[in-house]
Amino acid sequence: MSEHTQVKMTEMKYDKDRPAAKHRLMIEDLSLRDGHQSLFATRGRTEDMIPVAEKMDEIGFWAVEVWGGATFDTMHRFLGEDPWERLRTLKRYFKKTPFSMLLRGQNLVGYRNYADDVAKLFVKKTVDNGMEIFRTFDALNDFRNFETVVPVIKECGAHFQGCICYSLTEPRIGGEVYNLEYYLKKAKELEDMGADSICIKDMAGLMAPYDAYKLIKALKDNVKPLIHLHSHFTSGMSPMTHFKAIEAGVDIIDTCLTPYAYRTSHAALEPFVMSLLGTNRDTGFDINALARINEILEKEVLPKYKHLLDDTKVSVIDINVLLHQTPGGMLSNLVNQLREMDALDKIGEVYKELPRVRKELGQIPLVTPTSQIVGIQTVNNVLFDTPDERYKMVTAQVKDLCYGLYGKTSVPIDPEVQKKALKGYERGEEPITCRPAEVLEPELEKAKQEIGSLAADDEDLITYALFPVTGKKYLMQKYGKEQVPDSVKPITLEDVEKQNKMIEKLRKGELVEKINPESIPEKSENARTFNVFVEGEYFEVGVDEVGGAPVITYAAPVPAAPVAPAAPAAPAPAAPEPVKEPAAKKEPEPDVSAGTPVTAPMPGMVIKYEKNVGDSVNEGETVVVIEAMKMENALPAPASGVIKAVTYNSGDSVAKGDVLAMIE
Ligand code: MN
Repeated sequence: MSEHTQVKMTEMKYDKDRPAAKHRLMIEDLSLRDGHQSLFATRGRTEDMIPVAEKMDEIGFWAVEVWGGATFDTMHRFLGEDPWERLRTLKRYFKKTPFSMLLRGQNLVGYRNYADDVAKLFVKKTVDNGMEIFRTFDALNDFRNFETVVPVIKECGAHFQGCICYSLTEPRIGGEVYNLEYYLKKAKELEDMGADSICIKDMAGLMAPYDAYKLIKALKDNVKPLIHLHSHFTSGMSPMTHFKAIEAGVDIIDTCLTPYAYRTSHAALEPFVMSLLGTNRDTGFDINALARINEILEKEVLPKYKHLLDDTKVSVIDINVLLHQTPGGMLSNLVNQLREMDALDKIGEVYKELPRVRKELGQIPLVTPTSQIVGIQTVNNVLFDTPDERYKMVTAQVKDLCYGLYGKTSVPIDPEVQKKALKGYERGEEPITCRPAEVLEPELEKAKQEIGSLAADDEDLITYALFPVTGKKYLMQKYGKEQVPDSVKPITLEDVEKQNKMIEKLRKGELVEKINPESIPEKSENARTFNVFVEGEYFEVGVDEVGGAPVITYAAPVPAAPVAPAAPAAPAPAAPEPVKEPAAKKEPEPDVSAGTPVTAPMPGMVIKYEKNVGDSVNEGETVVVIEAMKMENALPAPASGVIKAVTYNSGDSVAKGDVLAMIE
């Protein structure tokens, strides 16, 4: 046992009133941000945080992380929730515990560098809405990307937590890039910038216990700010890693409440509370109070999210991350992307190509957004490259990275890749070396003019400035100008119960036998067919509009008789899965019978058309930009000619192979 942890066996009591530890370990709880982001695709709803908020406020956390990362994006895009409103709402329940957020430096809560005016207003409004601690990181560890936000954080009287992304090129700390000196140098830079605390962000769970001991000890010996460790469980090492960090004197660690812990999330809090009980690092937390919170979560909240857990694997530990150094979120994105493209068999090739792409792109750490940038480019290379040409489809974000728009990479980008990516790049073919945001024009005024009166306040304006397409869509819904789609509405515990029963019946085949044929309504000619997947089983479901809300007219496991429902089911009370409406095509139906089509090489969302009907276009020129897995892909004209038809609108979802435009 280290000098830092001493146990006095006589002092062990569960209750909160036990004597305070000499060097109490402080805890930041991540359940309400990174926890559900890691395990439940960031789908946690505010209404499901409220039942435990006041009880969590009593625990004595150093901070609770409630915002930032992917929450802003997911809330407005998929949950129909205003991210700003969540802050204000939760603040009413958390009266004592400071709020912490994850700020992606100049990327804020998005995936690119925003202009300085947007960054400043974002921080200011975030503090106004209740934020107190800004965990600020940059995906390239290029702290020039902090220069705009940090002075505003400080001016607003908030806590600036400087973050260093933990990355490796070797199996353990060391090597030529990410060695101990690298991290100490970065920590000194943060101290000089006025960091109130320094966080090591081990987003992929790569930090090994003895490396943690070495690193934390060196940091404690060399810099003054509080030292905070954030290490994901993914690889299974994090509880051991945290324990060695505690022995080395780490001030604060990040954990989750049990239902939000493990897998690609974080170590659970409760075992630490017990393990440290009576030591000089005792958290002082009331284990009974924690158990009561967990019970509420287990019974009243988590059943609504269980279906989002990645249930393709039994193991809670992913050893692939040790081999490929990919953070959990990135891994599931890659798998989803490949699955949507019907190319899941290519995962092995993706693993092989990944380190090569990463090295060519400057050996950058893999964290949002660089994990997506490297990941999606890797998928594009595997799917679209030919034996004689690599980087055939370069995403807009890789072009930006090659230009220097994200900052300085850890090692220089491969000159050949850089040259190819920047050929014809709109900002110029010569990369920049200055602070990236210096080349960005102010964006607020333009955003203000574009969104007009649809933005009622600065918060709305920021939502639009950060996410022009989906942000605008959300604001239209928020102010009743567009209908809120059913897919964003919350489900209730009763819905879950009904779904479970229906799935159970479907599995047993009972749904088919117990049907009285007389009660089956006629299938109208308006009935539409949907493919529904329930835990790997495929059902063909017909939905017929009956005086408003869609009801199920038949649900048939496939293979089944195709047109007439051979094994029909009674109208079900609740649809088993939210069914996504295919994008409505522009009216009148354009003629796509002749000419050369521009097709979607992947499923995604139309961002914008660069060319419109009547425009002439040269082969290779960008016709339309689609977003897939948050990366923008410019689709080139396969032939020269005149645009004869464009078939979708900005914001529409498209499937692989859909015709997006016709050239004649
Ligand atoms: Mn994290």
